[in-house]
Amino acid sequence: MSRPTGWHFLQLPGPTNVPQRVSEAMARPIEDHRGPDFPELTRTCVEGLERVFQTDQTVLMYPASGSGAWEAALVNTLSPGDHVLMCETGQFGLGWAAVAERFGLRVAMLPGDWRRGADPDGIEAHLRDDAGHEIRAVCVVHNETSTAAVSPIAEIRAAIDRADHPALLMVDVVSSLASIDYQHDTWGVDVAVAGSQKGLMLPAGLAFTAVSARAMAATEHARLPRSYWDWRQMRDKNTDGYFPYTPATSLMYGLREALAMLEEEGLDRVFARHARHGSATRAAVSAWGLELQCTRTEDQSDVLTAVRMPEGHDADAFRSLVLERFNMALGSGLGRVAGRVFRIGHLGDFNDLMLLATLCGVESGLVLAGVPVERGGVEAAMRELEGSGGAWSS
Ligand SMILES: *Cc1c(COP(=O)(O)O)cnc(C)c1O
Repeated sequence: MSRPTGWHFLQLPGPTNVPQRVSEAMARPIEDHRGPDFPELTRTCVEGLERVFQTDQTVLMYPASGSGAWEAALVNTLSPGDHVLMCETGQFGLGWAAVAERFGLRVAMLPGDWRRGADPDGIEAHLRDDAGHEIRAVCVVHNETSTAAVSPIAEIRAAIDRADHPALLMVDVVSSLASIDYQHDTWGVDVAVAGSQKGLMLPAGLAFTAVSARAMAATEHARLPRSYWDWRQMRDKNTDGYFPYTPATSLMYGLREALAMLEEEGLDRVFARHARHGSATRAAVSAWGLELQCTRTEDQSDVLTAVRMPEGHDADAFRSLVLERFNMALGSGLGRVAGRVFRIGHLGDFNDLMLLATLCGVESGLVLAGVPVERGGVEAAMRELEGSGGAWSS
């Protein structure tokens, strides 16, 4: 096979494109993580993350992928045999539940059809039935990356409060943080878990956790075994700007730069940009005559778009064609929608022309793969983008 020329289009919903500024910030000599200058780096990163999580409470950073923060959330707050309520929004909802089960937690799963976000009323009803308050935590994936469905976290908080239930609210914001609005303190979330390789525009390798005072208090009574993930040793060392073990120093240089970039753009504009790209992509899908995996309009994600293949057409064969022909990687269908769904990532460091090029590759790829679609998706997306403010306007 000959060498592919030009850019590789990495249109996954994570890992996302690492901007040049971030790559260059990482390309510098490692410094002593116990040296006198290190606390300044830690503090800059933590303070920037506090603004991104929109919290005044504790933010911690592990050298890990997002899955590490999933585990940390559970082992720091719960004890063997504790009951937790999980929501089957899609593959990531199931994945977090599987971690809980491996630790001997008793998982009740609110069933879902993988076509919408978690249902606040269902959560409220389930908690009302738990008069003895056995359920210790409600876990929700904010942006379910396998289905492109967003769950209404503020409404879920309100539902827990209406049921007058003391369970902790834990939210996976791995693919929503720094892409769509997430308000840790205002929404009353206890634990939020995130990773570096999605909206934060970094390679994988840092896991972030925002912890409420109530969740931090719960850690004193939690009896699940933990060592590497212990919040207390991380918090105590971080207070002085240091880490209990070797931090991912290069990634922290990158994080400092990525946070600066987010602040230069302004979080509100970052969210507005993702919203424009989300609606333009949905306009394209609708013009092609294809179906979105997420059918509930209010829940449709602006971070990625999950598209269903018509019956008899294989999403993975289409993705292979797009990779070979256009040097573009699209996200695969996960779990029970494998082969049935493909996913277009439009998050992170991204602009209108990158989106349009992506959609050109998808449209041509669909035609070449013999999928019965209408043309005109790219044009529909262009019209949508022309009708709303551009990257630097407003
Ligand atoms: C990517 C992702 C994860 C897993 O994160 P890793 O960094 O791959 O461990 C968890 N939850 C959601 C919603 C994700 O999108």
